[in-house]
Amino acid sequence: MKKFKTKLIVIYSLLVTAIIVSLLIMVNNYTKRAIVSFLEQELKIGAEYVNSYIKSFHRPINSSLFKSEEIADALKRIAQKSQMRITIVAEDGIVLYDSELNRETMENHSYRPEIMEAKKSGLATSIRFSNTLQTEMLYVAAFFGTHYIRTAKPLIVVHQLISEITRNVVISGLVVFVVSIIINLLLASAFTRPIDESVSFINKFFNGDMNARILNYKDDELGYLQASINRLADSIQKKINDLTIEKDVLKMIIESIRDPLALFDRFGNISVHNGAFMQMVGADREIVGKSYFSVIRNSELNSKIHYAFTSRKEVIFEEAIKGKNYYVLILPFRGKQDESILLVMQDVTEQKRMQQLKSELVGNLSHELKTPISIVRGYLETIREVLNDRGAIEQFIEKAIANLERQNAIINDMLKLNKLETTVHAKDEYINIRSIIQQCVELLNLKIQKKSVSVSLDLDACDGVILGNSFLAEEIFFNLIDNAVSYNIQGGSINISARRMSNAIHIAIADTGIGIPESEIDRIFERFYRVDKSRSRETGGTGLGLAIVKHAALILGWEIDVKSSPSGSVFTVIVNE
Ligand code: ADP
Repeated sequence: MKKFKTKLIVIYSLLVTAIIVSLLIMVNNYTKRAIVSFLEQELKIGAEYVNSYIKSFHRPINSSLFKSEEIADALKRIAQKSQMRITIVAEDGIVLYDSELNRETMENHSYRPEIMEAKKSGLATSIRFSNTLQTEMLYVAAFFGTHYIRTAKPLIVVHQLISEITRNVVISGLVVFVVSIIINLLLASAFTRPIDESVSFINKFFNGDMNARILNYKDDELGYLQASINRLADSIQKKINDLTIEKDVLKMIIESIRDPLALFDRFGNISVHNGAFMQMVGADREIVGKSYFSVIRNSELNSKIHYAFTSRKEVIFEEAIKGKNYYVLILPFRGKQDESILLVMQDVTEQKRMQQLKSELVGNLSHELKTPISIVRGYLETIREVLNDRGAIEQFIEKAIANLERQNAIINDMLKLNKLETTVHAKDEYINIRSIIQQCVELLNLKIQKKSVSVSLDLDACDGVILGNSFLAEEIFFNLIDNAVSYNIQGGSINISARRMSNAIHIAIADTGIGIPESEIDRIFERFYRVDKSRSRETGGTGLGLAIVKHAALILGWEIDVKSSPSGSVFTVIVNE
């Protein structure tokens, strides 16, 4: 950028130089003219004086007149005193007398310009270089009828004076030049400072220093301009702040949406996206500005986006990406200027899973409820056939009742599970785990005795009360101990022991039963899932016990750990206090 100050100083310097040079030329010309005219006057008077002097002898003016030593000496004195050269020329141009040179050595002067001119007008002036005296001379020649008297003075005085004046003018001009440049520099600095300040402020502002402002501006036009720039900056800052807030709010909203969302500009480059979109495409660094097809690695999705770009039509479809199911909406903007495309994906994996679980549950439940009904119906039909056989009838009625009880147990467990599913927080009372476990063992006593299972308790670590829920705790321990009996061997044993670990109590229910194969352990908590269906029915299990345990533990914030081998299983309840 060419600086205004430099321009100003260059222009000013040129101006001052031009003024000084023209002043010098003017002064020199004027001086030369003035001196020359003064000398002319002097030489004219001199010529007239010489003429009246030689006329005073009343002799003819010819060469013999000047042979007189007296006259020659007198003229020489006059010439010396008045510091001029006196030449007397006859009408025919022959030099009669010269105060500087020997007249005999001098050539005819008829064609000297001043003589020629004097012949015409009586008086003439000429400035020429005198070869005889080797200097510039001012000649004044006057014609007096019979002769010319020419007086001359060297112009060396004029030249000396002019060079003197030039030197003085140049010196004072230089002083004026330097002083005026300094003053100009100061003035220019004072004048351009506000401009420099304003430019540096604008640079700072555009480089992001929004709080910068022009300080200390003056009460003049530039100051007014600076105040206006400040006001402009204020309003830009306010607008940017507002926009930033709006942008942040929008960003927060977009970020808070858990489903993938992205906006592609008309070139197909990503202009906005949220974290869920990054996760969906598996990007680990910023992807704004990248093209959608270089980021999305799903050909179906890419081709649908491409179709939406070319057709400007909305596309809705379902797609599975990386094990998740998405409901995808590709929406082209309808605005004239805006040719962006909005991609909104709704993660419906959980919904789908729930749907599937629901339909599985309905299937399982219908099957579980239908089986006892079919069995009861079978017994009733058989009873109809054997109405006379009272013993058989009683036996069939017993079996029918057992099946109805089983159905009743399934319905009760389903209702319990349903209730547990809708309970969020239930740690609302102080419970004693030791007494709850003892109670459960007592309730199962008949079953334990039937199977001749020995039960040992080591529950010192869970003495005292903790915050929990007695109903949920009972459900957990009852079902686990019930299973430990049901899937135990005849005459086996159950050991229930508690251990205190930092912030939790670990209660292990270990049995000597048939165990659970490693591959099945993950599934035993599902509803109606049984490892061995016939055995579970035999034991009268509903297939819902562990599902109830899982839900109850979840509500209490407890954990269940399972370890199993063919010689028995250990279910550990981790009670987090
Ligand atoms: P069930 O009413 O059939 O016992 P559960 O949900 O309580 O239903 O248990 C699911 C399945 O897990 C059982 O059918 C059984 O196969 C297995 N199981 C549960 N506890 C044990 C255990 N202690 N030993 C061996 N198998 C078990």
